[in-house]
Amino acid sequence: MLINGERVGAIEGRTFAVSDPATGEMVASLPFGGVEDVRAAVDAAETALPGWAGRSPRDRAHVLTSAARIIRERVPVLARTLTREQGKPLREATDEIRGTANVFEYYAGLGSAFRDEFHRIAPDLDAQVLRQPIGVCAAVIPWNMPALLFAWKAAPALLCGNSLVLKPASTAPLTPLALAGILHEAGLPRGLLNVVTGSGDVAGEALVRERRVRKISFTGSTGTGRRVLALAAAEIKRVTLELGGSDPMIVCEDADLDRAVAGAVAGRYYNCGQVCTAVKRLFVHEAIADEFTRRLVNSVGRLTIGHGLEPATKMGPLNSIEALERIKGLVDETRERESGRVIIGGGRPGKGGNFYEPTVVTDVAEDSRLLSEEVFGPVMPLVRVKDLDEAIARANRSPFGLGASVWTRNPSYMREATRRLEAGIVWLNLHLKVPPEVPFGGTKQSGLGRENGIQALEAWSEAKTVLLRD
Ligand code: NAP
Ligand code: MG
Repeated sequence: MLINGERVGAIEGRTFAVSDPATGEMVASLPFGGVEDVRAAVDAAETALPGWAGRSPRDRAHVLTSAARIIRERVPVLARTLTREQGKPLREATDEIRGTANVFEYYAGLGSAFRDEFHRIAPDLDAQVLRQPIGVCAAVIPWNMPALLFAWKAAPALLCGNSLVLKPASTAPLTPLALAGILHEAGLPRGLLNVVTGSGDVAGEALVRERRVRKISFTGSTGTGRRVLALAAAEIKRVTLELGGSDPMIVCEDADLDRAVAGAVAGRYYNCGQVCTAVKRLFVHEAIADEFTRRLVNSVGRLTIGHGLEPATKMGPLNSIEALERIKGLVDETRERESGRVIIGGGRPGKGGNFYEPTVVTDVAEDSRLLSEEVFGPVMPLVRVKDLDEAIARANRSPFGLGASVWTRNPSYMREATRRLEAGIVWLNLHLKVPPEVPFGGTKQSGLGRENGIQALEAWSEAKTVLLRD
């Protein structure tokens, strides 16, 4: 844990283990935070708040700039830590750490865009709109992108003058702890960013309930998001929710097939399928479905599975035994109910750890859980459609609405799909890419509010309107 700038143990002295998902080996033992630890973290955040809130945005931005520089200097060591606790291939971990530095740099640059507004309403009536910090805020993040999501929350929260208590996922807390340490090295005053390690149901819940926490930014599953929203309702806390997704990818009959296959493989199997905006349902036009499937299987068959630290590895293990069992259960059920045909993968390679083969399922029944639930692992359900209209209708038949991609060269298909798809982000001839410069978030049960972009500054501050008559 990191409270008031110091690494500390839990008040009750309990600990928990972080393990390597590829081997089961213990990587670290960390303090298991309880209600009292959360209270101490919020005390520290409350004490540190006024000094930081009183500084200029440019001053606060300096800290983010220095943090980005230190992160860049330490990419190799941070990436190794990330791979050890999370499982992803070192190349993907390296990308994530670089992306984390980009986010800090982006928000540092916005320091100068963070301005109060002035309006002359009438000759004798002036108005100001002040952007003020919200106060002590909470961030709860998952394990799939623990570095990037740390940055998405910490960078705008701190730039806006708030203080923060962050609860990382219990299976990937080491990279967030290292990043919090770097922010302090970069000059962040103590108490402004505290990290309470431990479980979601104890530390996470205590943090969300803490009366003095004014805003909660949560990324995780839709089920937990619903719980967070209900708890926040008691005191009308501000809430941003980035939740689950079941992103459709639509491949039209005129698509560049090689690009589309490469996009599907990266979109589904990157991070072992554990990305909120992964390609989770694939809709392919029937005229090209056979050829597309042949090329897809060929490409999936070449994904080398292994420990993330081995250079040849293209896909690592799932992050936890629970995640593995869930994925295995979904594929086993598909076979038992004959609600789909597993054409590649569908088993565990004999490697120990939480490995599961990259899998493709065709002829998926309409009521299959592979289509109605979020499949958070390397399993791709492929559905044939007769035209774009059917693809869009089926894509929208989901409680989720995070991202969606369309692969076509036809501008009218692009316009039609962009307008009708129920999603917070639409990609045309790409998938997965989420630059920090533009807003990101979900519609429907995929979330509430937006992160990233200049919009994030509004989500991390309160507008105070001042009217003045002379
Ligand atoms: P999760 O179970 O909801 O956990 C997310 C975080 O919430 C973890 O830190 C967890 O702690 C904590 N938590 C659990 N119960 C809590 C409670 N009652 N109160 C407060 N905090 C609690 O999600 P996950 O399964 O780890 O993560 C995968 C999910 O995240 C997927 O659904 C994915 O789509 C979603 N996701 C969404 C986005 C997005 O931007 N939309 C981005 C990435 C991931 P523990 O680790 O200790 O359980
Ligand atoms: Mg969980």
